[in-house]
Amino acid sequence: MRKKIVAGNWKMNLNLQEGVALATELKEALAAEKPNCDVIICTPFIHLATVAGVVEGTVIGLGAENCADKEKGAYTGEVSAAQVKSTGAQYVILGHSERRSYYGETVEILKEKVDLALANGLKVIFCIGEVLEEREANKQNEVVAAQLESLYHLTEEQLANVILAYEPVWAIGTGKTATAEQAQEIHAFIRGIIAGNFSEKAAEEISILYGGSCKPSNAKEIFSKPDVDGGLIGGAALKCADFKGIIDAWN
Ligand code: PEP
Repeated sequence: MRKKIVAGNWKMNLNLQEGVALATELKEALAAEKPNCDVIICTPFIHLATVAGVVEGTVIGLGAENCADKEKGAYTGEVSAAQVKSTGAQYVILGHSERRSYYGETVEILKEKVDLALANGLKVIFCIGEVLEEREANKQNEVVAAQLESLYHLTEEQLANVILAYEPVWAIGTGKTATAEQAQEIHAFIRGIIAGNFSEKAAEEISILYGGSCKPSNAKEIFSKPDVDGGLIGGAALKCADFKGIIDAWN
């Protein structure tokens, strides 16, 4: 059985004190009512070490939102996979559409990041997804297939530490959600690509999350689809009640 997962992406929101307060609130909410899925929060780098202390020994996993494509050295302002790991984090989001479009992250750069993250014992939440014009031109399948090229060199053992997140860019932060049917269709296509490039077993085992304006009111329907294994949540991860509402969609 593959894992059901709800992961939050805080992006560049919340100062340290606000982040600690949110993590503490979530910890208390989930201690009172055990979730029926894995729960992960991905925070800005500066929150990681402190939030690691808050969530230690709880059901909440912790991740970064990015890491460098270099191992170490004179790369001012960058944070390496090893540094992320040393905070106590277990995950890292890579290939988010905001990183691809605002910071020019290419398939090749992301391949380096994936390799470094996995080599340093981090699990990767790897994001893929098309922009509106690509969806309108019905090119979403070829776009995600090309983005997945950052993973094709991995061994199956390495791929077991990768979670995929399909996030149509036109649905991120826009309030426009893909329909459950649109999500199912492309998730099944993505799983087919994994089967073709790795194996049926790898495809069956990899979790594929949906992301893009997911909220408590639409999560249950989207998660009910057979190839949707949970969600990567942006805006709604910033309020404990909303994030918990999405987690509860698995109940
Ligand atoms: C995201 O950016 O990963 C995301 C899913 O954002 P939102 O939920 O705000 O659309």
